Amino acid sequence: MKTTILGYPRIGNQRQLKKACENYWSGKTEITTLIETGKNIRQENWLLQQKTGIDLIPSNDFSFYDQVLDACLTFGCIPKRFESIKKGDFSTLYFAMARGIQTEQLDTTAMEMTKWFDTNYHFIVPEFTIDQTFEFFSKKIIEEYKEALELGIKTKPVLIGPVTFLLLGKEKEKGFHRLDLLNRLLPVYFQIIDELIALGVEYIQFDEPILALDLSDRERKAINNTYESFHAAFPSLKIFLANYFDCYGENLETVLQLPVDTLHLDLVRCSSQLDDILTSKYFNPNTKLSLGLVDGRNIWKNNFENSLRFIKKAVEKIAPKNLFIASSCSLLHSPYDLELETNEKNLPLEVKQWLAFAKQKLEEIATLKGLSSSEEEAYLNLFEENKLANLNRKTSTLIHNKKVKSRVENLLESDSQRKNSFKIRQELQRNTLQLPLYPTTTIGSFPQTKEVRSWRSKFKKGILSQKEYDTLIAKETEDSIRFQEETGIDVLVHGEFERNDMVEYFGEKLEGFAFSSFGWVQSYGSRCVKPPILFGDVSRENPMTVKWSSFAQSLTKTPVKGMLTGPVTILQWSFVRNDQPRATTCNQIALAIRDEVVDLEKNGIQIIQIDEPAIREGLPLRKEEWKSYLDWAVKAFRISASGVNDATQIHTHMCYSEFNDIIENIAAMDADVITIETSRSEMELLEAFVNFKYPNEIGPGVYDIHSPRVPSVEEIEHLLEKAAKVLPVEHIWVNPDCGLKTRNWPETKSALQNLVKAAIKQRVKTLQTA
Ligand code: GLN
Ligand code: ZN
Repeated sequence: MKTTILGYPRIGNQRQLKKACENYWSGKTEITTLIETGKNIRQENWLLQQKTGIDLIPSNDFSFYDQVLDACLTFGCIPKRFESIKKGDFSTLYFAMARGIQTEQLDTTAMEMTKWFDTNYHFIVPEFTIDQTFEFFSKKIIEEYKEALELGIKTKPVLIGPVTFLLLGKEKEKGFHRLDLLNRLLPVYFQIIDELIALGVEYIQFDEPILALDLSDRERKAINNTYESFHAAFPSLKIFLANYFDCYGENLETVLQLPVDTLHLDLVRCSSQLDDILTSKYFNPNTKLSLGLVDGRNIWKNNFENSLRFIKKAVEKIAPKNLFIASSCSLLHSPYDLELETNEKNLPLEVKQWLAFAKQKLEEIATLKGLSSSEEEAYLNLFEENKLANLNRKTSTLIHNKKVKSRVENLLESDSQRKNSFKIRQELQRNTLQLPLYPTTTIGSFPQTKEVRSWRSKFKKGILSQKEYDTLIAKETEDSIRFQEETGIDVLVHGEFERNDMVEYFGEKLEGFAFSSFGWVQSYGSRCVKPPILFGDVSRENPMTVKWSSFAQSLTKTPVKGMLTGPVTILQWSFVRNDQPRATTCNQIALAIRDEVVDLEKNGIQIIQIDEPAIREGLPLRKEEWKSYLDWAVKAFRISASGVNDATQIHTHMCYSEFNDIIENIAAMDADVITIETSRSEMELLEAFVNFKYPNEIGPGVYDIHSPRVPSVEEIEHLLEKAAKVLPVEHIWVNPDCGLKTRNWPETKSALQNLVKAAIKQRVKTLQTA
């Protein structure tokens, strides 16, 4: 038996790569420093894997920005707008494609970025034209193989497979389908494989995670043709075909007949597929299997007993020499090293013993191999230790709270229903709120200036006392209320100055969450996130937002919206426990948020927004599973929103996802008002409303908050007119696309002044024509 992983995190255990990139971008350091940093990280990663006992170590899993961007450069798939710098300095070209470029010679936008399957990692989207050509342009894959070889390590180069590469990209012109380009792309693969084999490469890992999606016959055929042709041209090459994040599903039959050496299975996401494969009539016992047993997407310790059961099952049909023990997917999605975590207040020892980060996962893989092939006492001790940790997780009082469990078990249908239908609620809300046509509002946060952030960091370090910190936040909140009043906004917000992050803030106030200090995971480029660890039953001991919301409301007669993060988003942006269904965890969070909503109402808040920007992200990869997810996700939102009286207006907010195909489920959330991002796509979202009559009120974003540009009154009016064509006028709200926390004050003020002017003009126009 051998061990392998599909990839290792590359940001550096202290985020060295992040810092080195940012220093290079800002001109503080030379490119040589950045290159050196990359080299050190690769070396460290390889040597660590070697020392830990990984037999087949990946290379080319490193990237300065993103592996799909790397692939674009490898295949010479460079959009024409970068043509003029293609022959120049490589790093200038590379980061221009990633981040855009603005110099005297060239001023052009970056390539688009989107989420990598159902992860929070973003990749650069390849762009294709009808006359697209490919060439072996960047030799990174060769250089990194040689670099490892110099350390005495014969690696398995990782390359995104051609079908996944094409399907993840976009046609930038009409008149062709990107799969039409396969025959032009394959010769470049041939050349790469040829050069690698000349260097002594034995295995190449081709990542084809599109196999976790529903594919058409044509797409499956493309897979088949690709790997048949690789095998025909290079019969000695060992093709390691990697799919992850879900089962092979309908694609299994095709895949089992491919002439590949090794087939990788993500047994964490899809545990049933080992049986499916071993019993399939297409299964060839000479095909090697890579058993992806150690979770690359989450932070829980492996359960050795379980994993060994899988290994045993495989060994009954397959010779051990034909098996790999592996991570379920690349460890890119795991934080680096649990040993760095020493803050017991944020991460209690009891919780820590249940966790494994990337480095610990390597050890687990090696131990699983040891346990399946030797009786050494050292291994047996590790087995006992693992068993004990998993056992006490089952019974820990830190995790298990009877009251919370029974509250979820006793949920009634009526708990997810408002007292009356929207029409009745709308009438009541109109009477109490007395808002004008085209009411204006914002999404919640106002600029998080350097000062605001410095107060928080000083407060955390103990330099500012609670009282001093609160005084500063109160002043900032008051200023924001005064500004909104002066501008004439109809529904105000308090500004969220007291919050670092919309999930972490709630995690810190709820029971059942822990926090790492260095548990960073790459999100895109140099950006990392540090998701909270949701380890136990979730409950709310005390109000979380009432203080600041009611303070803000006390300053003004205009309604101030209460501002909460919804249960699905809290779930989605945390490392979630794997010892109970996600739906159950989500209901626990929903009940905690519900309590907060009720408390806000009790304290005089008449409008409460429950943000759910991540609802779309949780969608399963395969369509057949969508319904069951949407059912529980929508219900959890409704549980959080339904504890209040009909006169209390519930808002929700969503952004930066494709919502058109789940619009009916969004309607089923039954929020009185939804504010939704649309301005970047010129209200593309509204197309969905032509066929589907969204029943409740809606604020399509009219101010792109990602841009420093201030939209003009005319631009906003134009967007509102567009909206008025498909939505009933009395349902339209006027608001930005998303929170304003990343903007500065001068821009924000001008933009919101224009927004209010545009709303007033629309109002007048509507009343005149009525
Ligand atoms: N209320 C949050 C804010 O305004 C919403 C952020 C989001 O949608 N990501 O910042
Ligand atoms: Zn948003």
